Amino acid sequence: MEWIADGDASARASSRVYAVERTAFQNVMVVELVSLGKTLIIDGKVQSSLYDEYVYHESLVHPPLIAHGSPEKVLILGGGEGATLREVLRYKSVREVHMVDIDEKVIDFSKKFLFEWHRGSFDDPRAKVIIGDGRKFVEDAVARGEKYDAVIIDLVDPLVGGPAVHLYTRDFYQLIKQLIGEDGVMVTQATSPILYQRMYAIILNTIASVFSIARPYATYIRSYNGIWGFIFGSEKTDPLNFKSEDIDARIKSKLKTSQELKFYDGLTHEMLFKLPKNIRDSLKLYKEISTDDSPKYLEI
Ligand code: SAM
Repeated sequence: MEWIADGDASARASSRVYAVERTAFQNVMVVELVSLGKTLIIDGKVQSSLYDEYVYHESLVHPPLIAHGSPEKVLILGGGEGATLREVLRYKSVREVHMVDIDEKVIDFSKKFLFEWHRGSFDDPRAKVIIGDGRKFVEDAVARGEKYDAVIIDLVDPLVGGPAVHLYTRDFYQLIKQLIGEDGVMVTQATSPILYQRMYAIILNTIASVFSIARPYATYIRSYNGIWGFIFGSEKTDPLNFKSEDIDARIKSKLKTSQELKFYDGLTHEMLFKLPKNIRDSLKLYKEISTDDSPKYLEI
């Protein structure tokens, strides 16, 4: 049973429990759900399932990396399943990927139970996994003067008492801007523009307060019980400047072809960035932003 909102829950039958553990940071479970297949659940919230993990991970990774065109050095924050890493490693231009996840147990569970997600990506010589807090890693990287072409933020939602709240604030995005400079791109998963309109709008407003270009996009993900949202940020690159044919041409030339994408292509790109009127209208209702001094939480 997953609580979705006040008075709203989603009930799913499970046929097998692979592992349950209370780690130092969160409650982690890997279970077999009758409707979604193998599923990772953290703090009672579905993180991704075999049924449609590819929809989430392709939507998160490819709009920013295709728009960038030739990412060489990429930072992933969170992404414990290794599927975000899998999608980044498809790019021929990528030479180095740093993935920072706070919870070693999630990575251990993924290595043991979620091969279909990472497909051996953790062993790719271009990948380096760092166990630690993403915020601390970013602060240290800025202090060292390190640069990345892209930062992909695949964290748990900003839940009260959760480990990721300080990775959704204006102060944090200002650090990300220093990491990617003028030419870089960033993206974050951003909760749901239907289920959590206020939080989604806050994340958009916060990113828009830092980056010249901030673009909301979304798609339906059954595992998350609705439309799920992402926010893209950059100083110069605008994913809206690409036509369907441009995207298809880039996919063909920039990605290794050994495994076909199952969700993302030129038409999907156009669809992702075309939000319906009710969502566009709801985004105008909220003016708040999240800051370190006054962080905003997803209250469920
Ligand atoms: N698809 C997702 C969802 O439903 O929101 C996110 C998936 S991914 C499993 C989330 C990861 O973020 C977890 O592996 C968790 O350990 C990691 N995480 C949470 N807080 C973090 C932090 N402060 N720094 C780095 N990783 C963090």
